[in-house]
Amino acid sequence: MAQNVSREEREVFVNYLVKNRLKRSDQREAILDVFLRSERHLSVDDLFQLVRKRHPEVGRTTVYRTLKLFQAAGLASELQFEGKSRFEREYKRQHHDHFICRSCGDIIEFSSPEIERLQDEIAAELKFEIDGHRHQIFGRCRRCARGVARH
Ligand SMILES: [Zn+2]
Ligand SMILES: [Zn+2]
Repeated sequence: MAQNVSREEREVFVNYLVKNRLKRSDQREAILDVFLRSERHLSVDDLFQLVRKRHPEVGRTTVYRTLKLFQAAGLASELQFEGKSRFEREYKRQHHDHFICRSCGDIIEFSSPEIERLQDEIAAELKFEIDGHRHQIFGRCRRCARGVARH
């Protein structure tokens, strides 16, 4: 399953490049590979560090620009908090929202049909057409709240 989705994601990316007359390059494909292998919320630097282990010739700017291409192609979505961006896989993933720990930066995903329903009701009352939303709830994770040192 995961394997099939990865293959589709690669196809989606190649199609996006072709459609937009962008070059297919080994570097772009290597970055996609590393991105697809990691199941986390990655900052540009996180991904850059991972890519660099296997492809020391790839620069940070290339990683950043390529992430933006993933985003444009519908493969990645961006979360922003405290002035920092993080990227996660988006393709065929179920909608979810995030708890973000201010101490250690841990990100915990959740989804709540009840919250989704409530916001639809409120939007209907306000005649507001929702085309997307993002809940980011800030605080401290269980470990940090217990006062455990950085983990
Ligand atoms: Zn924490
Ligand atoms: Zn997420």
